[in-house]
Amino acid sequence: MEKQGNIRIASENMMPIIKKWLYSEKDIFLREIVANAQDAITKHKKLVDLGEAAAEENYRVTVTADPKANTLTVEDNGIGMTEEEVEKYITQVAFSGAADFVDKYEKAGGDGIIGHFGLGFYSAYMVSENIEIFTKSYKEGAAGVHWQSDGNATYTIGDCDKETRGTKIVMHLAAEEKEFSKETVIRGLLRKYCSFMPYEIYLDPTGKDDKPVNDTQPLYLKQPKECTEEAYKTFYRDTFEDFNEPLFWIHLNMEYPFRLKGILYFPKVRKQVELERGKVKLYCNQVYIADNIKEVIPEFLMLLNGVIDCPDIPLNVSRSFLQNDKQVQKIAKHITKKVADKLIELYRSDKAKYESCWQDIATFVKFGCIKDEEFYKKVEEIIIYKDLAGEFRPVTSFFGEEVSEEDAKNGKEPQAVYYVSDANKQAQYIKMFKDAGLDAIYCDTYIDPHFLSYLEYKNPTRVRFLRIDADVAGALKEEGGEDETLKKLFEKALEGKHVTVKTEKLKDGTVPAVVNVSEFVRRMSEMHSFYGMGESPVDVTLVVNAANPAVQALKDAPEEAQGKACEQIYYLALMNYRPLTPEELTAFVATSSLLLEKYLQK
Ligand code: ADP
Repeated sequence: MEKQGNIRIASENMMPIIKKWLYSEKDIFLREIVANAQDAITKHKKLVDLGEAAAEENYRVTVTADPKANTLTVEDNGIGMTEEEVEKYITQVAFSGAADFVDKYEKAGGDGIIGHFGLGFYSAYMVSENIEIFTKSYKEGAAGVHWQSDGNATYTIGDCDKETRGTKIVMHLAAEEKEFSKETVIRGLLRKYCSFMPYEIYLDPTGKDDKPVNDTQPLYLKQPKECTEEAYKTFYRDTFEDFNEPLFWIHLNMEYPFRLKGILYFPKVRKQVELERGKVKLYCNQVYIADNIKEVIPEFLMLLNGVIDCPDIPLNVSRSFLQNDKQVQKIAKHITKKVADKLIELYRSDKAKYESCWQDIATFVKFGCIKDEEFYKKVEEIIIYKDLAGEFRPVTSFFGEEVSEEDAKNGKEPQAVYYVSDANKQAQYIKMFKDAGLDAIYCDTYIDPHFLSYLEYKNPTRVRFLRIDADVAGALKEEGGEDETLKKLFEKALEGKHVTVKTEKLKDGTVPAVVNVSEFVRRMSEMHSFYGMGESPVDVTLVVNAANPAVQALKDAPEEAQGKACEQIYYLALMNYRPLTPEELTAFVATSSLLLEKYLQK
């Protein structure tokens, strides 16, 4: 006997709202329906354990996509429902659950609920124009029940001759949702949402395929000591479809004060642009929630690839709630701490490996420090830079003693640490530093300029960073003051060229002059161009090397030669700093030619 009924909730109004909000993610209905099927099996299993139901050897969920009939069917052999239960759970709970969801969603401003959790059975109406349920309870003598509704105000319910225990949900897809009747589409969605669900899911209309689409015992649920290196790599490849091997990984496994399991992988990053590509997938009891939930996983960890399963995160709430939730903050902190611990452990136990991975992880670590002070405090000592000899050294080993307030008042500055930002362009400076036995660090990741500022900000009395071309005079000068005669000669020859002249006796006599640009001025100019304010021209300082024989000889040369030589020395120094402009180059070529001519004359 078939009965008709009215659904008490005003459900006509619900679907347009749900559709509008969730349109781009409507495929989550599949997660909801398959998760329900899994729950039904869990419930049955519990009854078996309690001795209240007969044992079942072969729990499974079968998904069938039928493009001809334009249907999608999800069937389980779980607990099933009696007619009463269908009335209660589907007609009432499912519909009112969806109404609750809509209500919360609206309050959260339309983009609130994490992973759209809690929408439930009703979400299948996002893609279906009609849904049928065939179900049979585990209870002895229970009859098969058939229910159907178009999701609006009415439904019918009656008997059917279902033979086997469990529930079969047949979704009659709307004409425009035909893609959900394609096996390939459904396979992709099952992979995304159901990969780690606890009971086997089969997608095969013939029933012959004996390979489930999911991994019912994902590696992250196991104890770390049970997992081999190979298993970690395989899991990585399968989960992230990345055929590059990960550098290393962290297995999170915690029961108290909250439950947290997962694996975070450090991917190989070759190009900077790839940095954005990390993916941390969040699960709740093996059910996929969403990627990269920044409320739970600290932003900088998004550069990693990983799987995190945390049943203690409240999901049925808005994002802003989650952000302020103490428990969630603790979880985020714990994950950060574990990442820092792992890095420190690797540094201590296998420095060679750490150094070989550094290229790939440096940006991540530096970004993490800038974003999270506690992380910085933990990893400060293991941030390494190459020195001029090519050896890695902790950056802190370059820092000086703290400069006391008293000393600072008397003009003492914190330790100057020189850095190379481009080994090719700064080759001349590097050579001079090496020859003089001075050191500098190589900085070549794009985050370094920001990171060095951050280090200065954190250690204001111990370090200041200067690019290797910022203050050669300061780094390499020997005792002795300026040579006024030389200074005047150069100033006269370079009049109108926006250059400040300084003379200094440098430790290295081979170079006649070098160009310096103040660190402060250069950083300002870089910031301008970073913010698209155009490049501001920077004034340079020409440091004339009084220790150079040519420079010395210049003092006694005829006046005309002096002018030309000064210009030539200036261009040579400038070339080691930046490419010459067309005008400068023309002048340089003309002077060179003239000097050759004079040199070759008998
Ligand atoms: P929720 O799962 O969050 O309770 P749903 O709307 O998804 O909400 O489902 C409502 C109820 O319907 C479930 O709590 C469950 O009791 C019942 N139900 C749904 N699907 C099944 C199924 N496949 N087998 C047995 N019971 C089910």
